[in-house]
Amino acid sequence: MLTAEEFKNEVRNISREINVSPKEIQLRSMKHKWASCSSKGRLTFDKSLLNEPKDVRYMIIIHELLHLRYPNHGKLFKILLNIYLQKLL
Ligand SMILES: [Zn+2]
Repeated sequence: MLTAEEFKNEVRNISREINVSPKEIQLRSMKHKWASCSSKGRLTFDKSLLNEPKDVRYMIIIHELLHLRYPNHGKLFKILLNIYLQKLL
């Protein structure tokens, strides 16, 4: 299990690779989803991600970070998600 600080560092490292800069990274208990991205660039992740394996964490983290550039789940979004997953995992 990761600590909150380790998780946030992971998010910061991945954001550097993707070349985006989240304004704020939050961890809290979320009932219905893994994560969310506000229009102002604040990312919120569910605390239970701390217990998930690396491949699950990376998929969720990269997904949210890409939303800082692409708000929807279009073709380009999916292509980039796969590229970064393969590159960084
Ligand atoms: Zn999404």
